[in-house]
Amino acid sequence: MRENLQDLTELLLSHQPLTEEGFAFLIENRTPELSARLAQGAVQVRRQIYGTAVYVRGLIEISNICKNDCLYCGIRASNKNCDRYRLSPEDILLCADEGYRLGFRTFVLQGGEDAYYTDALLADLIGRLKEKYPDCAVTLSLGERSYESYKRLKEAGADRYLLRHETADKAHYESLHPASMSFENRMECLRNLRSLGYQVGCGFMVGSPGQTAQTLAKDLKFIADFKPDMCGIGPFVPHADTVFAKEPAGTVELTCFLLSVIRLLHPPVLLPATTALGTIHPEGRELGILAGANVVMPNLSPESVREKYALYDNKICTGEESAQCKDCLSARMRSIGYEIVTDRGDVKKRMDKE
Ligand code: SAH
Repeated sequence: MRENLQDLTELLLSHQPLTEEGFAFLIENRTPELSARLAQGAVQVRRQIYGTAVYVRGLIEISNICKNDCLYCGIRASNKNCDRYRLSPEDILLCADEGYRLGFRTFVLQGGEDAYYTDALLADLIGRLKEKYPDCAVTLSLGERSYESYKRLKEAGADRYLLRHETADKAHYESLHPASMSFENRMECLRNLRSLGYQVGCGFMVGSPGQTAQTLAKDLKFIADFKPDMCGIGPFVPHADTVFAKEPAGTVELTCFLLSVIRLLHPPVLLPATTALGTIHPEGRELGILAGANVVMPNLSPESVREKYALYDNKICTGEESAQCKDCLSARMRSIGYEIVTDRGDVKKRMDKE
């Protein structure tokens, strides 16, 4: 078993994909020593590609109105306690103005699946954003839409799209989502986004109810094959008004382990140290960077709505101004020897070794 673990580690450290069984074995038999070794390899390869730069994305939470009823999510349609809001295009442009002043060169528009944001409205908004800030990237994270919709938004100027696959195991997917949603459609959306030329992000929660080493192994295999430009992983954190209120949160330890594995599997990937990771540990985001992440996403939403965009309980940074949020993260990154940069922060396609 020892030898097996060593072989698998060597494969990963030389950026070779493992089989599903290999990934599951690695997860089940991980030790603090193994995690440290992988983190070291991950940091090293990240440094070759991105140096000590940490990219920032200004996150604008445009709406907590959602037609879906994902079992884990605090803004699910059936949550009657959720105080709903949506931002108008003008509100969003004001957030971007503030963000640009603060040095953000990527804006991430994230929200529930809210029919208010038609293709026409979004195309117009994206056009205005790109016209005003041609040196900025626009990332969308607005859930599942049709091929035609993604196409129109791409043509309007959107650069990137984040759509976590949530889990690469169909049965697990079905246990986390209502019958109206399908694993196949989620995956189809990711393929469509890629074929349209977006920089595409997938990802999953660590420690979601029903997750096992086997389902995680499928996630890792999927990531190794799909080679996403971005990959969002953060711990599952329970929300009091959901079915999973009493479920335990994911851990920092497993999240950081997986961040290192994903960096090693696909070295150029843009990998955020997420707000959820910062929520379950006071230095969660620093630990994420030290495990191989290279992106942080400070909140640019108007302060009045931050509490309301509650995907999970105890979300951090809801009481701060955007400038405070950015300064706080800059200081945190500096404290561990990294530097936040004012840059679009596109994915670097190649590394010398690949
Ligand atoms: N409607 C968009 C945006 C979803 S919110 C979409 O479907 O992509 C962004 C991510 O937050 C989700 O993909 C999910 O992985 C994560 N999330 C939702 N609820 C969460 C919870 N309780 N704990 C941790 N992460 C959660």
